[in-house]
Amino acid sequence: MAAFPLPPGSVIGILGGGQLGRMLALAAARLGFDVAILEPEPDSPAARVAAHSIVAAYDDPAALARLAELADVITYEFENVPAQAVAMLTELGAATAPNARALAVAQDRVEEKSFLNKAGVPTVAFAEAHDAASAAEAMALVGAPALMKTRRDGYDGKGQKWVEHAAGAAAALKDLGGAPAIVEAPADFLRELSVIAARGRDGEIAVYPPGENHHENGVLRRTAAPAKITKKAAEQIERIAHQILNSLDYVGVIGVELFEIKGGKLLVNEIAPRVHNTGHWTQDGCEVDQFEQHIRAVAGWPLGPTEPHAFVEMTNLLGEEAADWPRLAAEPESRLHLYGKREIKPGRKMGHVNRLHPLD
Ligand code: AMP
Repeated sequence: MAAFPLPPGSVIGILGGGQLGRMLALAAARLGFDVAILEPEPDSPAARVAAHSIVAAYDDPAALARLAELADVITYEFENVPAQAVAMLTELGAATAPNARALAVAQDRVEEKSFLNKAGVPTVAFAEAHDAASAAEAMALVGAPALMKTRRDGYDGKGQKWVEHAAGAAAALKDLGGAPAIVEAPADFLRELSVIAARGRDGEIAVYPPGENHHENGVLRRTAAPAKITKKAAEQIERIAHQILNSLDYVGVIGVELFEIKGGKLLVNEIAPRVHNTGHWTQDGCEVDQFEQHIRAVAGWPLGPTEPHAFVEMTNLLGEEAADWPRLAAEPESRLHLYGKREIKPGRKMGHVNRLHPLD
């Protein structure tokens, strides 16, 4: 088992080869680390900037053994890592971060909200539904209208359905493919906010200023940060981040999505046990960005400062929008981040642009 802090020259393993893995790998390289990527797709964005690349399924035992052999610590760029893969890595004696519990909690919306409430973090009212009878019970408990979501594997607004009347619950469950679901009360939110925070191996916590998020068709379009929020809201969000990180004995960066309700109440919608799209603004707006922060945390290094030095509007470049790079590259206030994806598909996250403005 590796001794922490890991010295430069150590190898950081990452499960997943998408843009988050790529930006983690670039940050790791800046600190003198090598990176090993395990990803089923060949020629992935992360593998192309990494020292080592293993192309195999996430639960392929030989691939996991190779990764464990190469890497001094293994982390993730997405939360839906098969539990079996995490168990295998643990059996192989690999150091993994964040821990298996954080992944398990974030993989299941019922587990997630139950965990949050137990940790003293408020959410919308919710109930589980797995068949017609439990769906009817859930609707009786939560009330109509309600939002039904699959418990697992939902992302970017996929696997969700509004249920206008209690009578429609069984049909909605069927529409979602019959998979176990969560039934949520509607959050009558004014704004969607998120906070990126990190916890080190020694329990030290660093929290970034929250951002304000705008989604289109369930996909993040823009984050503006630091969000204009009251001191009270900022303190409350900071407290929520601490409660979540400490309750999970977490190591690494976490993304926490929140609803701001009328009257200033804050509810947590979901947690992502990884670097997060709503934290991309930190690359050009903060002293140490979320990617370096995550590498620092998992490598057992001290966390870096999170102070903002600019107001940033982060805009995702979806599909063909990335073809606009010559114009974006010519904007003096814009910092362009492109993921090197070979194929443009409609709606695919191809890059993002951080537009910098002076802090108030
Ligand atoms: P999620 O997949 O949970 O991140 O949800 C995707 C988006 O759906 C969120 O960003 C919100 O805009 C919306 N949403 C999720 N849960 C609720 C809820 N309980 N009430 C109202 N809107 C919601």
